[in-house]
Amino acid sequence: MIIVVFGPPGVGKGTQSAKLSAHLGIPAFSTGDMFRAAMVEDSPLGQKIRSFMDAGDLVPDEVVNELVASRMVQPDCADGLILDGYPRTVAQVKVLEGWLAGRKMKLDYVIELVVDREELVKRLAGRLYAPTSKKTYHEKYAPPRVPGKCNITGEDLIHRDDDKPEVVRHRFDVYTKNTQPVLDYFAADGRLSRIDGMKNIDEVYADILKVVEK
Ligand code: AMP
Repeated sequence: MIIVVFGPPGVGKGTQSAKLSAHLGIPAFSTGDMFRAAMVEDSPLGQKIRSFMDAGDLVPDEVVNELVASRMVQPDCADGLILDGYPRTVAQVKVLEGWLAGRKMKLDYVIELVVDREELVKRLAGRLYAPTSKKTYHEKYAPPRVPGKCNITGEDLIHRDDDKPEVVRHRFDVYTKNTQPVLDYFAADGRLSRIDGMKNIDEVYADILKVVEK
């Protein structure tokens, strides 16, 4: 089962994908997390993408497509995968669909989480990130047990550089320009399930389950 979770920055894609992954027993793959890990390691991939990430711009399609294709052939994806943050451009959709069609597979569920911009700005301002465990917290809505520390690894939590207000505004614009056409494409053929992301985490999750367990 291949599931794609869409939504602008801060909408809760990572949180919901992780819950869904645990429930369905298939991995969730966040392209953003992979890129952040590459930057922390300062690997060749990390060096290649740093300027795009820091500016809140999209990483070039060919880099992302290659990364996702290499992830999808891993043995743990045999029963499926949840894609968080990919595809984000029409060109990425075309490559993904071609890749899946070549393996007699398809996108089973395309989910969009919908939240007001004002609410997103508030969420991003309080968002905290654990670089090693890749777990996301929120100062108010999902605080760690010990303030400033990851529940899993105990590492220090940080504010992501690209969550700064000026970068966030640009990321919203990038989303509207590049990803809205992707949503329009899936909406046009009836594959898009829109979910109200303003509800609390468990309510949003229950609504997602209604879609994937239909
Ligand atoms: P995210 O954690 O999903 O908000 O992604 C953080 C950043 O990673 C984005 O602002 C982009 O620079 C990059 N990124 C993640 N996924 C993609 C993608 N599918 N296409 C291009 N860039 C991406």
